[in-house]
Amino acid sequence: MASTGQHSGPLLEMENVSVNFPAKRPYPFSRKRWIQAVTDVTLQVAEGETFGVVGESGCGKSTLANAMIGMVRPTAGTVRFQGEEIYSLAPRAFKNIRRNMQMIFQDPFSSLNPRFSVYEIIREPLYIRGGASESAMKAKVLELLKLVGLDEDDLYRNPSDFSGGQRQRIGIARAIILNPRFLVCDEPVSALDVSVHAQILNLLMEIQGSLNLTYVFISHNLAVVHNICQNMVVMYLGMTMESGPSEAIFANPLHPYTQALLAAVLDIDVQRSRERVLLKGDTPSPIDPPEGCRFWQRCPSAMNGCVTVPAELVEVEPAHYVACHLVSGFSSEQMAIGLHRPVSGQSRG
Ligand code: SF4
Repeated sequence: MASTGQHSGPLLEMENVSVNFPAKRPYPFSRKRWIQAVTDVTLQVAEGETFGVVGESGCGKSTLANAMIGMVRPTAGTVRFQGEEIYSLAPRAFKNIRRNMQMIFQDPFSSLNPRFSVYEIIREPLYIRGGASESAMKAKVLELLKLVGLDEDDLYRNPSDFSGGQRQRIGIARAIILNPRFLVCDEPVSALDVSVHAQILNLLMEIQGSLNLTYVFISHNLAVVHNICQNMVVMYLGMTMESGPSEAIFANPLHPYTQALLAAVLDIDVQRSRERVLLKGDTPSPIDPPEGCRFWQRCPSAMNGCVTVPAELVEVEPAHYVACHLVSGFSSEQMAIGLHRPVSGQSRG
């Protein structure tokens, strides 16, 4: 069934979404193993907002984004866009709804075909959809070139003629040519010179205002997320550690992982940066991740119970959720057997 446009709830909803990929077997007859890229993520994105997804490399941000826009079918859970479960749609309806969901990629160097001209690159989604004359497509491409700050003289040049910032402008024009409602911006400035970050972010904000777009903004840069996102989720090893309104999380980060990420951003809060929580070690493999709290091996506050008892998300204030035993506490029975005691040998922050 195609969308009626009458839906009044969140534009995008993910409910208990998990995505597993088969891992390469080390030996031909070894047991099958799974990369648990995303585990049990629930979130809602309201029409017109910018929703942040943050976490270190390998935390599952990009897989989550791909599941949002119909590019990776979840192993479990549901993804609804405008109220419709996208992975249950018939192919034609899926194609229609998919046009409303586009992505801006991290690397403007590899995401543009070097053999195509700017015109061919931006026009491509319209060309594939069909139904528009060459003159109509050219007029639309010229309109978008202007919107993203490039000009007519650039039309038949190749991507190699442009700087990283200009290539990202071309990628943005291509992403909006089908008039989508929803854009996933997957680390859109992280591959660019710092000097052009603000220009591209300002362009994205201007386009959002003029075209009434909804963004999911994926980043490991909390300063940027703080500036542009109304709501956010903090992910670690495929799971939600903390989620809620950005203001609430930045004012009162409760999860040790969020605190560590924030402490690394000196310009957000000088006072907080003095109480630095330094993370040691690397993120563990998403193949067979820790069975308790996924963060326990790197957490400076880990307790015995964190090793075996998963931390459930609890609502600590309206719409602000945290998955940590420090917040939810252990039961009196669990405390009686010492689950609240620090893990021996774990460093204190
Ligand atoms: Fe640290 Fe335990 Fe909280 Fe996990 S549940 S973040 S290991 S204190």
